[in-house]
Amino acid sequence: MKLRFAELPYRTDALEPHYSEEMLKLHYQKHHRAYFDKTVELIQGTDLEDQTLEQIIKAAAKDRKQTTLFNNAAQVWNHDLFWRSVMPDGGGEPEAELSELIERDFGSYSELRESLKDHAVNQFGSGWAWLVFDGSKLSATSTGNADNPLVHGKTALLALDVWEHAYYVDYQNRRAEYVDAFLDNLVNWRHAVELMAGARRGSEPGMKRAAGGRSRS
Ligand code: FE
Repeated sequence: MKLRFAELPYRTDALEPHYSEEMLKLHYQKHHRAYFDKTVELIQGTDLEDQTLEQIIKAAAKDRKQTTLFNNAAQVWNHDLFWRSVMPDGGGEPEAELSELIERDFGSYSELRESLKDHAVNQFGSGWAWLVFDGSKLSATSTGNADNPLVHGKTALLALDVWEHAYYVDYQNRRAEYVDAFLDNLVNWRHAVELMAGARRGSEPGMKRAAGGRSRS
């Protein structure tokens, strides 16, 4: 079994006051963990048991009988990226490596911010907002439920969880306030730049992280 429950790259209280320890623990240890445990349960003893998370998601996406597996496995992948899309003292304008592309594809950082916020706030019901790279162009997008850019052939650079479980403890129904906190105080642009660099080197979307999880021998 290649799947591992991804460790957080910071302490559970590290994102306060923008993301409380209570909400983070519930989200990471209960919601994210449940998706992981269910995925493991569903692949044990099947042909997918020794596949990477990306391979499992792509296989399940093609098979209508595997909707439950797709939903759980994709949610594991989405959350793995979500926790790495944020950091203590993050947010604001991105690293120089990205700012040129942002100006070309959005016009300015403030237009990118507006577009990401728009997708996050207006995603009806549960889902995700994303900053994605399609090999040549950056764009903001959103998906419903567990759906993600990986199965649409795009590289996700940032994942913003807009399921209610992601913000309700701290922000109740005020999704826009949570999105502001994410964009202005939490975004990990350094990680987005690394994913972008991986995509430009021609690695398949998402495969860089899978490779990092394997033994280096
Ligand atoms: Fe979530």
